[in-house]
Amino acid sequence: MCAMRNQSLRAHLTQRLPKKILRLLRQVGALADKQGVALYLVGGVVRDLLLKRENWDLDLTVEGDGIAFARLVADRYRAGLAVFERFATARLAFPDGLKMDIATTRRESYAQPALLPTVQPASIEEDLSRRDFTINAVAMQLNSLQFGRLLDPYGGQRDLGARMIRVLHAGSFQDDPTRIFRAIRFEQRFGFRLERATVRLLAQAAATNLIQQLSGPRLKNEILLLCAEHDPVRAIARLGQLKLLRFLHRRLCYTKNVKRMVAAVPKALVWWARRFPDSAIDRPIVYLMALSSESGPAVVATMIRRLALSREQAKRVNTGGRRVDYALKRLTDKGTARPSQAYRLLADFSDEVLVLLLAKQVSKQQRVGLNLLKRRLVAYMKNRTIKTALTGRDLQAMGLEPGPEYKTILEKLLDARIDGIITTEADERALAYRLLKKSILVDRIS
Ligand code: ATP
Repeated sequence: MCAMRNQSLRAHLTQRLPKKILRLLRQVGALADKQGVALYLVGGVVRDLLLKRENWDLDLTVEGDGIAFARLVADRYRAGLAVFERFATARLAFPDGLKMDIATTRRESYAQPALLPTVQPASIEEDLSRRDFTINAVAMQLNSLQFGRLLDPYGGQRDLGARMIRVLHAGSFQDDPTRIFRAIRFEQRFGFRLERATVRLLAQAAATNLIQQLSGPRLKNEILLLCAEHDPVRAIARLGQLKLLRFLHRRLCYTKNVKRMVAAVPKALVWWARRFPDSAIDRPIVYLMALSSESGPAVVATMIRRLALSREQAKRVNTGGRRVDYALKRLTDKGTARPSQAYRLLADFSDEVLVLLLAKQVSKQQRVGLNLLKRRLVAYMKNRTIKTALTGRDLQAMGLEPGPEYKTILEKLLDARIDGIITTEADERALAYRLLKKSILVDRIS
């Protein structure tokens, strides 16, 4: 993209904004005039305006007291407001659903590499100088007279044109190693290249133990964001190429099979979404499971701890191991004939694990097994909505004393329902009586 003249650039930037947002930005710009503060739209949203990509994450920054200004805007528009004093930022939620972040222009100093910086108010130029890459160190002024004026002190437009990711200074990755992952994220998302000195600096930083010093939640955030990109397969391959996967665990097995499996995830996700649109999948977790699919349980457990995954996420990732292989073997075997057998193999798995199962089979490139598995997954998703008419209370009423038999009998009833052997409540009762009378249960019913 050639650097545009200021006037046509203003028109370009403002025309790209949806009318509703443009109106709001002009209004808050006028409010900033009244308050005597300079106001800017800043960072990724401006980058994406220049790239003609949709992104309405409205990041605003005020040369002055950002929080006070945010309060004013919140009052004026009856927007919800959350204030983060430590970072001099506030988040607004407008009644129509629009979100906006308002910050104070600031300088950051890193007392220690890889830790969060301390912040002090500063000019917009200084604020831009603390940003990660030239393409993100851009701002658009919102005050009425200067509305649409682009601030680009580090050649962000030039680098967008050259399709390049470039850090602003040599210590950038050291200050904040999350930028290593951000660099890959933007590189892959836009199909850009890392500028030559930037690659060298990134490799240098990656060769140290800086990333180890990142807190679990910060590392997790970056990894999950990468895995949430439109094409995580390329981003993960790039992590592998740059030897960054060792920061998940130094013994993570990134074998050919794992690569094939990661590469198969998008296909599995597409099939799943088409078949089961109501099942919302935590996609990054599926990639993480695929990535750790050939690593032992101890490695996976340590990775889960390192990434500070939530209990729910950890549970999902944890089930990815051997049980998946066993289930897959049985489910791609014609001998596993009864629907209830398939049900029992799958019942403990989260939907993410089911997608993983599918991805694993896709990666094996065996059509017959894959078709069989798909049919069984479809049947399973239907069967798992089936419930027994009888409950534990009914069994109690039949005279069964409390004990583990409750579960066994209810499971047998459900299996029989799933297999179509019984269809009505009366059938269930009859079967329950037969089961109750059998073997050891006989002396426990009154
Ligand atoms: P995305 O499109 O993925 O949301 P973004 O560029 O909008 O990307 P955010 O994480 O929302 O990224 O951050 C907004 C802006 O804040 C960035 O454009 C960048 O200017 C700045 N920024 C974010 N993270 C960092 C960082 N680690 N170091 C320096 N600047 C950062």
